[in-house]
Amino acid sequence: MSICPGRFVHSLSIQDLRGDPTQQTVLLIPPGGMKLRKAGEVSVDVDEQKAKPIALVPIGQMNESVLTVIGRGLREAFGRAYVIPAPLFHPDWAHDWHRGQYLADDILAQLGRLGLAAERWLAVVDVDLYTPGLNFVFGQAQMGGPAAVIALPRLRQGLYGLPDDEALFHQRAVKEAVHELGHTYGLGHCRNPCCVMSFSNSLRDVDRKERDFCPSCRWKLL
Ligand SMILES: [Zn+2]
Ligand SMILES: [Zn+2]
Repeated sequence: MSICPGRFVHSLSIQDLRGDPTQQTVLLIPPGGMKLRKAGEVSVDVDEQKAKPIALVPIGQMNESVLTVIGRGLREAFGRAYVIPAPLFHPDWAHDWHRGQYLADDILAQLGRLGLAAERWLAVVDVDLYTPGLNFVFGQAQMGGPAAVIALPRLRQGLYGLPDDEALFHQRAVKEAVHELGHTYGLGHCRNPCCVMSFSNSLRDVDRKERDFCPSCRWKLL
């Protein structure tokens, strides 16, 4: 059972001001292109018109539905539109054949070379990531921005021999995406176990925390 209270009131009021969170602005980046072109625009509020979007960059093939769910979660958390460029090729260039994992640092470096016209860049990969000194990472970010990455495989119930649960998988992906992007906006780890910025050493930690910032982290973000 979760020890965390329901969604924080301050987050609800921010969401209310922005209107229907299911309405989204999706801008597509043509393959290899640096300019954004608008497509499928539904609604843009004043804050989003002022701010550059967050680029959600798929590296390798993956189900589009999880990208859309993550994008909506980011829009709700940061008040930014999101863009989804065409997927990059599978990240063989980051593969460590000895460990059978992929180096998160290489993916962050590659993101930087893309020169995307976005405020922040979040790569999404469906391969297991590591960084030197740790067995694995759910994600990694550059403190203060602009690049971050999250890995999907360890967020699935199926990896642990349990029945697949898409809703839970999506929830975990949003939490990790908000957490890593929170680092790019300068937030460190939070000692409030319910805050999305609390450190996750295991899936239990991921499931325990909310997808929202605690009042203190939200205040630092503004
Ligand atoms: Zn962290
Ligand atoms: Zn916090």
